[in-house]
Amino acid sequence: MKDKVTRFAPSPTGRLHLGHAYSALLAHRFAREHDGIFLLRIEDIDPTRARPEHIDGIFEDLEWLGLSFDEEIVYQSERLETYAAALEELKADGLVYPCFCTRSEIAAEVAASAAAPHGPDGPLYPGTCRGLSAEEREARIAREAHAWRLDIARAAAEAGPLYWEDEDTEVQAEPERFGDVVLARKDAPVSYHLAVTIDDAAQGVTDIVRGRDLYAATDVHRLLQHLLGLSTPHYHHHPLLLGPDGQRLAKRHGAPTLAELRQQGADPEKLAAHLLAGRLPAGYSAVGA
Ligand code: GLU
Repeated sequence: MKDKVTRFAPSPTGRLHLGHAYSALLAHRFAREHDGIFLLRIEDIDPTRARPEHIDGIFEDLEWLGLSFDEEIVYQSERLETYAAALEELKADGLVYPCFCTRSEIAAEVAASAAAPHGPDGPLYPGTCRGLSAEEREARIAREAHAWRLDIARAAAEAGPLYWEDEDTEVQAEPERFGDVVLARKDAPVSYHLAVTIDDAAQGVTDIVRGRDLYAATDVHRLLQHLLGLSTPHYHHHPLLLGPDGQRLAKRHGAPTLAELRQQGADPEKLAAHLLAGRLPAGYSAVGA
């Protein structure tokens, strides 16, 4: 039996760039070095942003980079019932609540508060809907669009101290820093945090190789693993690539996509070897090692 399982889990909301290539190459190398399994999961849960042409683009780009994956590709859009069942479990435990706030209502409330607490993802949800009565929740659920939020203080208190490992370092989870995160959105049946946690466990992922940008979010994933009785993988958060402007790579900052590099005649074998050796294109840097 193969005992190491890694995955690459892109969201098909745009074309892949060098940062994605770096992440995929590192996860792939980890699996191959351990005679393990490398999975591909398409995180297409956001109906407003996921596009079929970007899914095709992911396949083209991975093939171009010479990355082969094992087993069937998992599409999160086909697993909504599983996520809904997990949400029901959390509802039954009284750990989630419906939230009827609009973005602008939340922003207005945050702006009106003199010292609105901030977390790793920005201002925390002020908790407006947390205290609604059971009757009000029932009545409003029937007629108003709503998200579902995790009552993070309650869930963390119930869980007690939780830890996860990044490489060989033990990290104590502090999920409360994120406030009451959304687990199901108004416009999408599940959020990234819930879907990723469930799927990594369901697919038997033992080692998660991904960028430092998701380091803090692991605290929330660790809490969800505990609440849902799921296994905790090992984490390997890798440095983030910064472009010549010192910013994280993103299409909006003009980072070239792999498709563009291909069109310009880049040699994928050389590119992969250079990235894996930490030899970045001129002007690029890696942070968070
Ligand atoms: N789908 C996420 C993204 O593209 C990555 C998920 C993960 O590696 O945990 O940013």
